[in-house]
Formats: sequence, structure tokens, C-alpha cells
Amino acid sequence: SWTDENEAIIATNTDATECKRCAVELGYWKDDYISYFVKHADRKAPEINRGYYARVRAMEMFIHQFLERCGTKCQIINLGCGYDTLYWRLKDSTQAVANFIELDFPSVTAKKCHIIKRNKQLLEKISNEDGEVIIRQGDLHADGYHLLGCDLSCLGEVKRKLAAAGATGELPALLLAECVLVYLRPESARALLEHLAGAFPRSALLVYEQCNLGDKFGEVMLRNLSARGCSLAGERHCREPAAQAERMRALGWEQARSWDMHTVWRALPEDDRARVEALEMLDERELLLQLNAHYALTVATRGDMFADMDLNA
Ligand code: SAM
Repeated sequence: SWTDENEAIIATNTDATECKRCAVELGYWKDDYISYFVKHADRKAPEINRGYYARVRAMEMFIHQFLERCGTKCQIINLGCGYDTLYWRLKDSTQAVANFIELDFPSVTAKKCHIIKRNKQLLEKISNEDGEVIIRQGDLHADGYHLLGCDLSCLGEVKRKLAAAGATGELPALLLAECVLVYLRPESARALLEHLAGAFPRSALLVYEQCNLGDKFGEVMLRNLSARGCSLAGERHCREPAAQAERMRALGWEQARSWDMHTVWRALPEDDRARVEALEMLDERELLLQLNAHYALTVATRGDMFADMDLNA
């Protein structure tokens, strides 16, 4: 049923958070906040940890490129944010942005709100001295941070929530979609992306998700996805990265580039790769190669300011 499907989709957030916590505990990257969001994480396979590292590191690299180009007078919109901790990590750097907006299903944002309220370390980064934190019907509004429940496949709702959070076409926008569009029906994902491209003339969109699902390994991934509420993954995720970039251009983005994660991995700084490779021995190198070949990062931009964002920029 509709509800069971959504339950399964919502559970993917718990899974992602556990994987991130596991990798953080093993020293893959630093995140002082992830442990507030999930109490316990079983140890994952080294290939999974390495995959998560590449994903987090690559997102971070492009977030940095974006901020380098426009400074912090901008907004970040995190679509299907789950328990992502980026807001707090940026707040600890010198790169806190003017407005940070997070959207997910209401049941996810309500839980995230609850966790934030209960933990001083999270809450204190949101409420400044004179700033007020308003929590209303599972939504959280503060100065520069908004966490809002909505169904991303309902464009009207997305528009209302973005407006309530103060999103504006006047400021550069960084849009994040990490393992989320795959759970939307193709027509909903299209409508959402097309709307966002139109609404934010100076923007960059980072999409991380499955690709190349047309082969044997991809078939297994598709079965996995459909077990988790994603029944319609076939249409576009069977495609190769180049086709994903093409699709973004067709939806109104001016530039779009896409790479599989094997290519992304090789483009990461040599020092980072060496450090991470020394953390754990791989049991199954072939599995890592397969995983990397079946995930892609796409960067789509509008506006001259962001036109040169690239893997090796
Ligand atoms: N982006 C986060 C990350 O990378 O850690 C979470 C990824 S998790 C695999 C997918 C998230 O997308 C879940 O939190 C899920 O609730 C959210 N999601 C999927 N479909 C959605 C929809 N139609 N509306 C709102 N959120 C959705």
C-alpha cells in the first residue's frame, strides 16, 4: 500500500545514518553530530564504508566549490535530508550559510526535530542568543535554519514550504538530492527538478544516486530498491551517467555533468585516498568496483557563476 511503501522509504534514512555512523567511528571522516541521530550502528563491510566515504567526500568537495564561488550569502536546500548533519558541520566551519532549508517526509522531520530539541549540542547551533526556535506541527523554524515536513512528490506543498522557509530566487542556491530522487515517481522527480531550475537562476544541484542498472548487478540493486518502496526506479536509473546529465539539461539546467563513482574516487586527492585505503582491508575488491560503477554524482548548474564547477576544478 501507499503507506507501507513510504514506511520502507523512510527506513532508508535509518540505514544511511547507521552506515555513516559506522564509517565515522572507523575514522573514515569526522562528524561530531551523527551519533546523536542513531544510537547504534553495526559494523558494515569495508566496501560499504569506502563507498560512503566517496559519497560524503565528493558531496563535500562540490559544496566547497559552490561556496568558493558565491560565499556564504546563499541558501542550501537539502531535499530528502534524512538525518544529514551538514548544517552543523558547516556551522562549525567558517562556512555557515545565510539560510539552510531541509525537507523530508513529516515523520522524518518530526523525529529530527525531536532529536534536535533533546540535544543541547545540536540545539545551541540553531538558536543564537536573541534568535527564537519555533517548532510547530513537526516543522522547525529558526534564524537561518528551517526543517520542514513535506512530500517531495507534491509540488504545491514543496513550493509552500520553501516560501515559508524564506527561499528566494534572489540568492544563489545549492540544492542537494542525495539518494532521494530515486524514490520519487519519474514524473514527480521531473516536475520537482524543473520547478527548482526555474525558481533558482543562480544555482547548483548535486544529485547522488544509482545509475547503470541495466546489467546483472544492476538487476540486483533494482530488486533491492523495489523492496524498499522504490517500484519505479527502472526508467532513468538504468541509464549511464551521461544520460543523467542530459536529462538535467532537458529540465532547464544550463550545464550538467555526471560521473560514476569510480571516476569520482580517482579524482579525489591522492592523500585522502591513501589514508582511507589504509583504514580497512577490502574483502571483495570486485564488490567495490561494482558498487562504484552503479552510483553516479551529477552536478547541474544555472548561472555563469557556477558554470565551471567540475570534478577537477
Ligand atoms: N539525503 C540523506 C542522506 O543522504 O543521508 C537521506 C537519504 S535516505 C536514503 C532517503 C531520504 O529521502 C529519506 O529520509 C526519505 O524519507 C526521503 N524521501 C524519499 N521520498 C521522499 C518524498 N517523496 N518526500 C520527502 N522525502 C522523501
